[in-house]
Amino acid sequence: MNTSSTPCVSLVGAGPGDPELLTLRALNRLQAADVVLCDDLVDRRVLAMLRSDARVLHVGKRGGCVSTSQAFIHQLMLREAREGKRVVRLKGGDPFVFGRGGEECQALREAGIEVEVVPGITSGIAAPAAVGIPVTDRRHAPGVAFITGHNRADAQSGAGPDWAALARSGLTLVIYMGLARCEALVAELRAAGMDGDMPAAAIAAAHTPQQRQLLCTLDGLAQGLRDEQISSPAILVIGEVVREAHGWAELTQELQQRTALVG
Ligand code: SAH
Repeated sequence: MNTSSTPCVSLVGAGPGDPELLTLRALNRLQAADVVLCDDLVDRRVLAMLRSDARVLHVGKRGGCVSTSQAFIHQLMLREAREGKRVVRLKGGDPFVFGRGGEECQALREAGIEVEVVPGITSGIAAPAAVGIPVTDRRHAPGVAFITGHNRADAQSGAGPDWAALARSGLTLVIYMGLARCEALVAELRAAGMDGDMPAAAIAAAHTPQQRQLLCTLDGLAQGLRDEQISSPAILVIGEVVREAHGWAELTQELQQRTALVG
């Protein structure tokens, strides 16, 4: 990396947590880096793979917390790259999936800096996989939609996702940043005709020692999240593919038995 005289930044995906889920290229870039600008969601075990003399700048921006402005992050990357440093911009999961990677690439390229993108395993695939959910299992769904639960329809950034269209699509819904607005988005899916018995799952801190998961139905999702104290970062999965999750068969059996006892 950066053997030419043109300054260069590597935008690297760190995957969901466990460093074994880094790509070999990501590992190479990490071990060559002089400076690493790092997001909050990057696992500490991944940072342990850096050279001991590498400088780590934490520029995270978790929802609601004090955050480093995007403009400041761009300035930092430019400065370090122009000084000839090997700069890695490290992001959780994949840098182009809800990671502002596109904006950062644009800012760097406009400033004459070369950008290399190293894809990572996004949590929208890795978190479901951690509990055995195959997101595009053809027996259940024709495809998958990656959606942010964060956008509000009234947000300045424009319209939120079209939940009614998504409910009708038959796609597996994989929702990032969906905990805070879970109740509202479930209501929108129900209003669009999605069955309250549709299987649903939440997987928090996937591929870390803190991993937690919840299997339930669409109608039970909001309460289940509260009961199980599922906290961010978490992925929500809504769709028939959740039936393939480890433990789903046992769960439905238990529910049937309970209903039989009550009934
Ligand atoms: N670029 C990242 C996503 C960043 S948006 C990626 O590709 O994965 C942040 C959201 O990602 C979180 O709110 C959560 O929904 C999800 N997320 C990130 N890491 C996660 C993990 N280890 N387990 C579950 N969800 C995760």
